[in-house]
Amino acid sequence: MPSRRTLIHNGIVVPCDGTRTALDPGSVLIEDGRILAVDRPEALAHITDAHVVDATGHAVLPGLHNTHLHSGLLRGTAESKSLWDWLRDYVDPAHRALTPEIAEAASRLCYTESLRAGTTSVMDMWRHMEGSAHAAEQVGIRATLVPYVADLPGYDYFETLETNRRLLTHYRTHAGGRVRSWVGLEHLFYCSEEAFRAAAALAEEFDTGLHTHSSETMWEVEESVRRFGRRPIEEFRHRGVLGPRTVVAHCVWLDDHELDLLADTGTSVAHCPCSNMKLSSGPARVAEMRRRGIPVGLGSDGEKENNNLDLLEEMKFASLLQKVTTLDPTTGDPWDILTMATIDGARALGLDGVTGSLEAGKQADVVTVDLRRLHTTPLLHGEDFNAVAHLVFSASSADVNHVWVGGRLLVEGGRVRSVDPEKVRLEAQSAAEDLFRRRAALAG
Ligand SMILES: [Zn+2]
Repeated sequence: MPSRRTLIHNGIVVPCDGTRTALDPGSVLIEDGRILAVDRPEALAHITDAHVVDATGHAVLPGLHNTHLHSGLLRGTAESKSLWDWLRDYVDPAHRALTPEIAEAASRLCYTESLRAGTTSVMDMWRHMEGSAHAAEQVGIRATLVPYVADLPGYDYFETLETNRRLLTHYRTHAGGRVRSWVGLEHLFYCSEEAFRAAAALAEEFDTGLHTHSSETMWEVEESVRRFGRRPIEEFRHRGVLGPRTVVAHCVWLDDHELDLLADTGTSVAHCPCSNMKLSSGPARVAEMRRRGIPVGLGSDGEKENNNLDLLEEMKFASLLQKVTTLDPTTGDPWDILTMATIDGARALGLDGVTGSLEAGKQADVVTVDLRRLHTTPLLHGEDFNAVAHLVFSASSADVNHVWVGGRLLVEGGRVRSVDPEKVRLEAQSAAEDLFRRRAALAG
């Protein structure tokens, strides 16, 4: 019978528990899906009945949280467009052509890619999400499912509050709590005020979260002022969606009053630096958000606007974007960035009591990253400790070695075990070809 215990032995343990400390060397003991102990290797030397994983030369950290993702199959197909042209001409027509089968293949691809890259928790805004629930269950990742709900004329092909309710009824919590559903809203200009109010009520009825995106471009802010007489976050407050259960992605063009509104209402932010750079949206005021106590998690945004789901790489962009926009080298500190990708992301998702840090009693969502690579040399200890800087600035998903979610070893030596990644890839390839055929037929 396999041992119920796993000892991740002699690594560089970065618990991300709110302190800027590492256990170097350190070990993590897992039992029945939970973390039993995080300690120095010698303190756990008496454990003899565990399956031992040697983590020498590896960082051992909590699984990463991607707080804003869209499953999809549009990677690399419409580059160098402005956000709103790109949505109108490329993304929305693909939404029209989407089927439940294609949507599920997209989720399976994106969750498998994420898990392989050390992400153990995603918040996915997508369509036909019963299939996403199945995909997340198979892949073994934690997933918070958020349908794209829209109701204004011209956007009738999106999800509705009714389909969102159906998802909540069946999948509010699923797969032992690993898969959850929230309420989702598409852009401010795709949804009526009534839809916002009903969405807030739905989230309350099911005691769940609410996710949307906002203030990505300057145009959006100007248009909001023109249409509603308020900036987007002010309009959100007017429509009753700000609060501790809400996570708003992007929040690039916020003024001081809007930042205060987020802080005062306990609303969280999903910061997506790659997307904000690639779509020329602009830099979010992350340091000022964090100073106000707003929980800020990291998000990749979709595969179409990133174009990969690699949060280790995203951390580097997050840091560099802050540095270049503030011209202040003390911003974007590696410890702060790692905190955003782990415990603060979990906090935004309301999962910080469950995961997000390596602490006894929490779910064993653990990642090891091999730091014995050319690009992570030298690896130094003691006063010259540099593993956290390596994680943020040098490492990438290719360096992820093992990944556990809830104590299940889902990636071993860089290979996904829960699903066959080649099968996932081939299924996604043919689903994408189908999607493009269907989109062309609808256009033609
Ligand atoms: Zn997005």
